[in-house]
Amino acid sequence: MERLQKAISNCGVASRRTAEKMILDGRVRVNGVLVRQLGTKVDLAKDVVLVDGKRLESVVKKYFLFNKPKGIITTSSDDQNRPTVLDYFKNIEERIYAVGRLDQNTEGLLLMTNDGELANILMHPSMMVDKTYEVKIKGHVPDTVLEKLAAGVPLIDGMTSPAIISYNGFDNKTGITSLDITIHEGRNRQVRRMVEYFGFQIHNLRRIQYAFLTLSGVKRGAYRSLTKDEVAELY
Ligand code: URA
Repeated sequence: MERLQKAISNCGVASRRTAEKMILDGRVRVNGVLVRQLGTKVDLAKDVVLVDGKRLESVVKKYFLFNKPKGIITTSSDDQNRPTVLDYFKNIEERIYAVGRLDQNTEGLLLMTNDGELANILMHPSMMVDKTYEVKIKGHVPDTVLEKLAAGVPLIDGMTSPAIISYNGFDNKTGITSLDITIHEGRNRQVRRMVEYFGFQIHNLRRIQYAFLTLSGVKRGAYRSLTKDEVAELY
């Protein structure tokens, strides 16, 4: 059993807020009876719920872990016709979308789902989901900068929260410093801006971990379904 407004929004008909309004406006019937009571409990396997006369069908929830390649944009459609993450999911019927986003030039782990409730939970700042990025930086990054990256960086939209920095070395031949940076915030281009603040340029940025999920076994441009246990652990 679930609350009527939740059932309506879970079916992708409307957001939770709009679903509540639909109920209050008298547009919803349960088993033939007009219901205006928010919070009425329904079971879509048994109850017939009509919204504007159309039967609500429960949608199958899908959860994918995608290894986004560089050059692909995270939004569902692009007015410049650039390739998007959805091009990789053409055989999936459900209307899935990304949980958060990765820049066009950032590769790596992106969750894709049609479960709006989980997406909202994971993206809520209070959830503080850890995200780890493998960062390749042009030039030698001194310890003093690493310490400052970890402590917090005064970006234009405020100080960043403390980050975990794990130094993986400097390659003399390529002139590249390798780090893993773990943050729980999800500000726009955050890692790039943190690094650029100190005058360094990113050579490559790849998200390698999201909460407990890693890219293990998922090739670039490929995806896998999450297991039931993984979904339960994310909730
Ligand atoms: N930080 C960035 O700069 N870009 C991303 O895509 C994700 C985090």
